Amino acid sequence: MTTLISPELNRAFNEQIGRELFASNQYIAIASYFDGRALKKLAAMFFKQSEEEREHAMKFVEYLNEVGGTVEVPAISATTSEFKNAEEAVRLALKWELEVTHQINQLMTMAVEQKDYAAQEFLDWFVKEQVEEVSTMQDLLQIVQQVGEHYLIMVEAYLSHGGGE
Ligand code: FE
Repeated sequence: MTTLISPELNRAFNEQIGRELFASNQYIAIASYFDGRALKKLAAMFFKQSEEEREHAMKFVEYLNEVGGTVEVPAISATTSEFKNAEEAVRLALKWELEVTHQINQLMTMAVEQKDYAAQEFLDWFVKEQVEEVSTMQDLLQIVQQVGEHYLIMVEAYLSHGGGE
């Protein structure tokens, strides 16, 4: 069968599938932490993020299948499920998004070096998406910090009015 992706990039894409699925799982844990504190809007926001991360993983799965690559889903690490406070949970999400941004850039560098134009076009979407994801988490972290742990209910109001989108 013809393969339109190098073994090296194929391997890196599989690793990215693992990272997207890990993010999906981590956001379930964060959503559940907020749900446990009856902060339903924050919970809903992270459950939605979790679904989006799964969709990201599936985009890589579909791409690999389309170019005749091999999909190998790696082992996924356990999530962090306990947090000192809301700020710590959101900070973890932001840290992860920055890490994913770095990884997407690495994949793009690899695709450029290999003159794999199809992969570059595919990755373009993720480059833009990461700008949005980092910005969303950055905003949320700032809001949570400014409001403070005792007034998180205000964050719920913020999210009700379209914040965090
Ligand atoms: Fe993602």
